Amino acid sequence: MRIDLHAHSNVSDGTDTPSELIAAAVAAGLDVVALTDHDTVAGHAEAAAALRALPPGRRPTLVPGAELSCRVEGISMHLLAYLFDPAEPEFARERELVRTDRFRRGQAVVERCRELGAPITWEQVQRIAAGGSSVGRPHIASALVEAGVVKDVSAAFTTEWLANGGRADVPKHETDPAVAVRLVRAAGGVPVFAHPGADKRGRTVSDQVIADLAAAGLAGLEVDHIDHDEPARARLRTLAAELGLFTTGSSDYHGSRKTVRLGEFTTSPEAYQALLHQATGAKPID
Ligand code: AMP
Ligand code: FE
Ligand code: FE
Ligand code: ZN
Repeated sequence: MRIDLHAHSNVSDGTDTPSELIAAAVAAGLDVVALTDHDTVAGHAEAAAALRALPPGRRPTLVPGAELSCRVEGISMHLLAYLFDPAEPEFARERELVRTDRFRRGQAVVERCRELGAPITWEQVQRIAAGGSSVGRPHIASALVEAGVVKDVSAAFTTEWLANGGRADVPKHETDPAVAVRLVRAAGGVPVFAHPGADKRGRTVSDQVIADLAAAGLAGLEVDHIDHDEPARARLRTLAAELGLFTTGSSDYHGSRKTVRLGEFTTSPEAYQALLHQATGAKPID
């Protein structure tokens, strides 16, 4: 079983359409793929339709999900949510709040970049994010690349430009993760802390915060991730065992916007079963 529980489409900051993501999952030989766009479920319907257009014996299983933008103690962090009821109103309202604030914030980031001498425009960013419902810093990073300001997307994520706390970083509305964990559970979903040790992106939360989230209903930690080195993975595996959390592995695929390949990191069948066992809001699609 090859199980990848974290992938983005161009509905947020990936570059593949949801249909292309399903085709990429087939090409990568995945048995299970989760679509986890930032703060939106807008890609689920297209991905499900693309799946159903495949011959039955050749379909991967699609796990509908999302990746929620959260903030605690001034630190931005991401919470993966799987198999929740997308129509549950309280959680839907919170996703919508974050998603819409991304447009205000995106325009403010572009304004800041322009003040700092980067000749990019909001129209350009909207073109790059075309078809998306969740605009983010990676789209602005692509605009900075187009304008010749930086050489690639990751070079835009320094404190010179878009990194957390960087010159052109403007915060967006982000949910308290304990609140987010409760919203996901109330919608029948399963919350997993995304890349909790990704310290290249900025400060990461303490073990105490993770323990508090576990007490609030967190189900798992994403451990095998490109932004975690081996010591970080070992530490997180120990912490997960102490707190009774399962651990996942996933690519966090963003199409051509990042170099990681779909299926480069995977989740064990046991952890996937534990996830399925806790989900009541939606079913995997196959
Ligand atoms: P936003 O959701 O608009 O705040 O932007 C966060 C997104 O930027 C993440 O989901 C990643 O896709 C991307 N990102 C964050 N840090 C980095 C980094 N250091 N290098 C490349 N991409 C990054
Ligand atoms: Fe992203
Ligand atoms: Fe993330
Ligand atoms: Zn992600």
